Amino acid sequence: MWNLCVEQESWWRRGRGAMPGFAERCRQLTGAREGFPWLAEGSVIVQQQAVKDYGQAMARFFDGTARRPRWRRKGRDEGFRIVHVKPGDVRRLNRNWAQVRVPKAGWVRFRWSRPVPADVKSYRVTLDRAGRWHVAFAVIPEPVPGPGTGEVVGIDRGVKVSAALSTGEMLTVPGHSGPEATRLPRLQRKLARARRGSKRRGRVKAQAARLKAREADRRRDWAEKASTDLARRFDVIRVEDLNIKNMTRSARGTAEAPGRNVAQKAGLNREIGRSGWGALVRRLEDKAPGRVQKVPPAYTSQRCSACGHVDARSRESQARFACTACGYACNADVNAARNIAAGHAVKARGADRDTGALNREPQLALLPA
Ligand SMILES: [Zn+2]
Repeated sequence: MWNLCVEQESWWRRGRGAMPGFAERCRQLTGAREGFPWLAEGSVIVQQQAVKDYGQAMARFFDGTARRPRWRRKGRDEGFRIVHVKPGDVRRLNRNWAQVRVPKAGWVRFRWSRPVPADVKSYRVTLDRAGRWHVAFAVIPEPVPGPGTGEVVGIDRGVKVSAALSTGEMLTVPGHSGPEATRLPRLQRKLARARRGSKRRGRVKAQAARLKAREADRRRDWAEKASTDLARRFDVIRVEDLNIKNMTRSARGTAEAPGRNVAQKAGLNREIGRSGWGALVRRLEDKAPGRVQKVPPAYTSQRCSACGHVDARSRESQARFACTACGYACNADVNAARNIAAGHAVKARGADRDTGALNREPQLALLPA
């Protein structure tokens, strides 16, 4: 259904009028189900929700927040969504297992990893690239309450250290452990040598996918724990207003204007992606709505958090900050985090100005349906 939508969209030409919306596409789907029995054998809920997902993906594309929806591939983008879930459709079997009723498939067992609310209305089933099936029940969680002390924290994103707090703490995202770090490149070399479509290739591919999935799991777990911890301990959380997407997208540039230092930037972008920064900020905004503030990033690394003096030479090295005016010295990332906590934006050398970031109300992050 998704790919049919992609194909339909590809036929659009300038001056042709709007593409059909969700209701019109559902009507077309009904017609198609009458004409093609194999299509009618599938669940109409699953098919309609794929159309709906596609509509949302296009809306995000027009907003400029996501890339144009592309073809979905077997083995890569497997999954579906079920809506109109009734209270009896989920039942607990014992401590570790439960069952969910899936239309056209019947009762399917799943591991009870966390409580499912009684009033859940929809869920999504996915198969990840490591071959694991997941079921996720959609629910909007209660925000995490802050301590109510008015305490403010600043967080600086780093590459070496994933995040530095203005309190002096360092947060590091777990990556691959020693043996894993050498195993992945070896598997990738093996993959490059394996013949396309061969059994060996499939096997090596699955091994690499499992390894990558393990890393991604650890990163996600870290973002969850760190964001909950921060939301509980601080009332206001200030981060740099970095547009990660622009940063990660700009490396290669375009054919007319190729980017400079492409290799280095791509490496840095990979590190930023791996550092889980985007995921941390996103989850913070979900868990502490209205309490996350974005501060302009200008000069946060060159400004002294003790006296306010701005000088590029104060940044002695990647790791060390030593003020050229007052002699204050500390870890460079912590210094930046303190500047972020203060909500300062410095417009030009030495000119210290309050930004108004204090008054700006951050937008509530919209939770995915
Ligand atoms: Zn100073």
